[in-house]
Amino acid sequence: MARTRRTGRITLVGGGPGPADLLTVRASNALAAADVVYFDRLGPTEDLARLAPLATFVDVGKTPGHHKMAQEEITARMIDGAKTGLHVVRLKGGDPFVFGRGGEEMSAAVAAGIPVTVVPGVSSATAVPGAAGIPVTHRGTSHLFTVVSGHAPLTEREYRHLAGLGGTIVVLMGVGTLPSLVAGLRRAGLPNVTPVAVVERGFSHAQRTVTATLGSIVNAATSCRNPAVIVIGDVVALAPALAAANLPTNASLQTA
Ligand code: SAH
Repeated sequence: MARTRRTGRITLVGGGPGPADLLTVRASNALAAADVVYFDRLGPTEDLARLAPLATFVDVGKTPGHHKMAQEEITARMIDGAKTGLHVVRLKGGDPFVFGRGGEEMSAAVAAGIPVTVVPGVSSATAVPGAAGIPVTHRGTSHLFTVVSGHAPLTEREYRHLAGLGGTIVVLMGVGTLPSLVAGLRRAGLPNVTPVAVVERGFSHAQRTVTATLGSIVNAATSCRNPAVIVIGDVVALAPALAAANLPTNASLQTA
C-alpha cells in the first residue's frame, strides 16, 4: 500500500502592529493550525505559545545591523519544512506585503511548488499614526498618503515628487535617516512649518509621540528610536484633539 504523506504548505501571516487582539481572525486561525512558526521582532511575539499551541518556534527577528538569519536561509528552511509535510507559518509584523519581503517569500514558495497563501495584516503605516490620534487622511486636510521606506536614501527626483504631492507622507524604518529625509524634503521645497510627528513603539505601554515641524523635528527627535512611524503633513496637527481619547495607558504626547 502506498504511503500517503500530508502535503505541506506555507502561510504568510500579517501579525499587525503588536497586540495579539490586532491579529485578524484568519491570522489567529492560521497560527492555531501551525506546526512551525517563523516569527519577527515586530508583531505579537508575547502571546505566541497560546496562539500556536501545537507549533515549534523559530525567531528570525532582525534588529537593524543584526541579521539573525539571512533571508535566503529563512526561505529555504520554510520550504524544506513544507516539503516534509508541515504547515509553516511565517508571522510578520504589520502586513506581509508592506516592506515585509512577503512577495519574495511567496515567489520562492511558488517556484518550489509549495502551496502558499497570504493573510493580510493591520499595517503600522496607518495603525501607528492612528494610535497617536493622527488620521493619515482627513476631509479638507489630506486626501492622499504615501508610504515610504527610510531604509534606503531617496533620489532628488523622489524628494521633489514627495514634496509636490501635497498629501501625507508616512515613513517606516526612518529614524536613522530622518536628518537626510528632512534635508531632502526642505531642498525640494516642502515648507519648514509643515507638521511632523514621530510615533515610537505604537500600541505598547511605552508608546510616545514627538511632534514638531519640518524645521525643528531633527532636534526634537534626537532621543527617538525604532520602531517608529514618522508622519509628515497637516494631519499631524489633528493629533492633540484626537489623541487624548485614543492613547494606551502610560503613552505620552510630547510637543517640541
Ligand atoms: N510590514 C510592516 C512594516 C515592516 S518595516 C507593517 O506593515 O507594519 C518595520 C517598520 O515598521 C519599523 O521600522 C517601523 O517604522 C514600523 N513599525 C512596525 N510596528 C510598529 C510599531 N508597533 N510602532 C511603531 N512603528 C512600527
